[in-house]
Amino acid sequence: MTRRKTEKELILQSILPTILNTISEGVTVQDHTGEIVYANDSAATRLGLASGEELMRIPIQELHQKHLDRFRMFDEEGNPVVYDQLPARQVFRGEESPSLRIKYENSETQEISWSSLTAYPMYDSKGSIQYVINVFTDITERKHTEQLLKFKAEVAKIFISSADFSKTLKMIAQLAIEYVADWSAIDLLQEDATITPLIVLHKDPSKIPLAHQLHKITPSTLDDDYGVGKVIRTGKPEFIPEITQEMLQASATNAEHYQLLTAIGFSSAMIIPLNVRGKTIGALTFAYAESGEHYSHTDLEIAIILGLRASLAIENSFLYDEIEQERQRFKDIIQNIPGVVWEWWAQENQGENQVNYVSSYLTDLLGYDSLQFESPTDLWLTIVHPQDHEKATKDLEDIFLSKGAGTVSFRCIKKNGGIIWTETHCLAILDEQGNAIGMRGVILDITERKELENRKTEFISLASHELKTPLTSLRVYVELLTHQFKKNNVKKYDKYLQRITKQAHKLTSLVNDLLDISRIETGKLQLNQEEVPDITELIQEVVDTFQETTQTHTIQTDGQSRHRLLIDPDRINQVLVNLLSNAIKYSPQADTIVVGIRDTENEVEVWVKDFGIGIDKQDQPFIFNRFYRARQADQETFPGLGIGLYVSQQIIQKHGGYFQLASELGKGTTFTFALPALKT
Ligand code: ADP
Repeated sequence: MTRRKTEKELILQSILPTILNTISEGVTVQDHTGEIVYANDSAATRLGLASGEELMRIPIQELHQKHLDRFRMFDEEGNPVVYDQLPARQVFRGEESPSLRIKYENSETQEISWSSLTAYPMYDSKGSIQYVINVFTDITERKHTEQLLKFKAEVAKIFISSADFSKTLKMIAQLAIEYVADWSAIDLLQEDATITPLIVLHKDPSKIPLAHQLHKITPSTLDDDYGVGKVIRTGKPEFIPEITQEMLQASATNAEHYQLLTAIGFSSAMIIPLNVRGKTIGALTFAYAESGEHYSHTDLEIAIILGLRASLAIENSFLYDEIEQERQRFKDIIQNIPGVVWEWWAQENQGENQVNYVSSYLTDLLGYDSLQFESPTDLWLTIVHPQDHEKATKDLEDIFLSKGAGTVSFRCIKKNGGIIWTETHCLAILDEQGNAIGMRGVILDITERKELENRKTEFISLASHELKTPLTSLRVYVELLTHQFKKNNVKKYDKYLQRITKQAHKLTSLVNDLLDISRIETGKLQLNQEEVPDITELIQEVVDTFQETTQTHTIQTDGQSRHRLLIDPDRINQVLVNLLSNAIKYSPQADTIVVGIRDTENEVEVWVKDFGIGIDKQDQPFIFNRFYRARQADQETFPGLGIGLYVSQQIIQKHGGYFQLASELGKGTTFTFALPALKT
């Protein structure tokens, strides 16, 4: 056993020096006086000596003077570290010694390095500490990386807040000199292809003029073979871990330039492009000079990521600008619309509706301040005339529920009490699932139009009344004449009298239509409703009468009804006459008209079908509008005023019914109206 152990010891003894001299950690052994009794090669090279052997040969005092004392030591907070604080001294004092991270600053070269220093005690046979082993691990690179990561984290914070990218970039430059550089600079490519510095910073602001001078002597250009110019041209980063004197010499354009470069004394640099939307718009420069530090590849990687983030910040600020411009454009447009643009959101859960936008035209239109309504207060209740409130609310609700667009008309009350007529064009806002979640619209002042319409209605009413009186006397006189002639057996004028009677009838029905219009407009269309047990009969009568005066078409009837109805027979008659006249008028090439009746559960449906010219799809939505005539109905072939359908629809609606239209150009048209049946 003992023999084998000794053998092992021997092997260890012979290989230990080799091991110690190949590791990258510096190892020294000190006695309690501070004398270095052992140093490996790595420890020696840190002091600029060739080997551990050489170090051990130098007397301790000389070692201090010439080598050790050149280094100033600082802890991680930047406080100077004194001899007594070193781990070795603590170990000798019998204290628990944690490892210490020390920054070494070479006072001659200004070079900086970081080590993690740990001390271990070695005991003699009596158990007291005889030596201390120091192990130095170079953590310069790790320290850089840590700094860069800290820097990156700081940078990430500022990106969120700033929309002005130059501000953001300046903040990055500022943070850079706090964490990762002696110099930091940002250069931007201008529209005229020149490169100008946005900012240059140094830890010591008094040095900044040097950089300005440098820019003045040799401004960066896109033609440069190195540096910022090249990076902006190529869009690729430039990494110079170690800037040598030769490099400075080679890049200097003249003596003054060289002098300046030497004065600044760059030791290491990274230049990162700022690539935005496929273009390099600038570069970020980080450089070490007096601190003598060097960037590593890890530093470069972090810096590149940083460059990407900075680019993103710029991109964001571009987007922000664009959105802002769009917003402004939109705002300008909205502000100049002579109408109140509004937006409203339905808030189901909170039980209140939120008007979240009202354009400032509200002040011009109604005298209210628009801001007053951009809150849950009810704009609607305030401005809508109480008499129109119910109908307008329902109309708006219908549009909301239809998830489409529409127009609602109502009166508004101004702040000063005045009343105006408005028309609101609005559109439902849908969410991604297609649910209606709000509405947008514009309220327009249509008071003038409304007044004109009123005047028109008034005129129609007056004119038709005025026409009716002479027309009535005309008919009376014709009747009188007919009577007289008949009495005296004068047959010669029969034909003329019949013609006059027919024309007077036409005129009367026209005047009646016009009178109906003014009645409808003023809400005075009255129905004399009565219970009708069998509408089939009523329809058949109209058809028979009509057939008597029609030579060109045969009117077929089809179906029957068993429902009892409450209707004004004269008015329903009027509707049927209207539909039949149209069917005949608009089907000159055809010879058949079909009138159909059908019961549904609660309604009676009556339809009039022709095989005529049909109605264009584009005209169909408007065909029931007052005075509307389809494009096919040219005045010469198909004379008319566009009143009949309007009046007919109003009559049917007044009965609580509705109209439907099915038509195809060139094939024919079917008008169907439905009337509610009386409950049995
Ligand atoms: P008018 O026939 O006097 O013009 P109406 O109100 O009765 O007025 O009809 C409105 C318009 O609808 C007509 O001008 C015509 O273009 C169209 N129209 C009505 N009925 C028919 C039909 N049966 N076939 C084709 N077009 C029709």
